[in-house]
Amino acid sequence: MELLKELCNAHGISGFENDVAEIMDREFKKSCKHVEVDNFGNIIATKGRGKKRIMLAAHMDEIGLMVKYINKNGYISFVKIGGIDDRILLNQRVIINSKKGDIAGMIGSKPPHLQKGEEKKKIVKHDEMFIDIGAKDEKEAKNMVEIGDPIIFEPNFGRLNKNLMYGKAVDDRLGCYALIKIMERIPENIDVTIYAVGTAQEEVGLKGARVAAFKLNPDYAFAVDTTIAGDTPQLKETESNLKLGKGPAITITEASGRGVVTHPKLRGLLVETAKKYKIPYQIDVLEGGMTDGAIIYLTREGIPTGVISIPCRYIHSPTGVFDVRDIENSVKLLIKALTEIK
Ligand SMILES: [Zn+2]
Repeated sequence: MELLKELCNAHGISGFENDVAEIMDREFKKSCKHVEVDNFGNIIATKGRGKKRIMLAAHMDEIGLMVKYINKNGYISFVKIGGIDDRILLNQRVIINSKKGDIAGMIGSKPPHLQKGEEKKKIVKHDEMFIDIGAKDEKEAKNMVEIGDPIIFEPNFGRLNKNLMYGKAVDDRLGCYALIKIMERIPENIDVTIYAVGTAQEEVGLKGARVAAFKLNPDYAFAVDTTIAGDTPQLKETESNLKLGKGPAITITEASGRGVVTHPKLRGLLVETAKKYKIPYQIDVLEGGMTDGAIIYLTREGIPTGVISIPCRYIHSPTGVFDVRDIENSVKLLIKALTEIK
């Protein structure tokens, strides 16, 4: 649990994944002889000695914010990095990763006492919000942070109940964790060569996976990511019937077909492997949202790609909820599938 906590709490908005890459580098080196960081910031660990090349991808970046402007009173305006609903931002605690270190901040809001009529119903846009870092004026604020500094939601990893845990950046540090565990457990003499890639800048256009897939030119690929669990009162079963604790989701198609359409052979491999080894699984047909798989499978002449996702509640918010058993079963399923691959 310590490693999972360390990964979820690490800083890493898109393009600023160094802290996450360092953790992955340290962990991969315990089990893989060859670990490298490419020009783009992807980290790539290699294991196995077979002819067939298989790429595994999990993205290191998380959604967050960036300092855009500091006003004369020392308050900070920001832009969003990645897909964030403005409504979840008010009153959140954030950490600005400045050159001086971690600066605590909070997104201010107007107390209900002072909101009038229509104002109460209005959605406050992120560009009308500000971050309060407790600076007395512009000069003091500019001594603490700079325009362009990355901002994360405050780390908050913890346990909700029994197997349910919560944290920021669960999308996709759970996948990063799974990759580390897969590489740890896969035997050195496996008859395929496996490249586990912690990808950079997924949340802003699947960028790291694109260059890594081109470089590695794998025969097959699997993305390991998170997906939307539908077991909360807000969601209808028709929107998502995935449940926490019921196993990893095997994706059939993402973004109504605009994302990955899982290669039938890999889909078959994952489903058959899950059945054979009695690993619980669910089937995911996603209406919105994509993973690294969507870009890997379009690389070069096309790379057959599958996606395994860990169901999470409240993704792309400051706190996601997941079931640790779904991570363990994702690891199991992929290890078995990798050894079954023909
Ligand atoms: Zn993701």
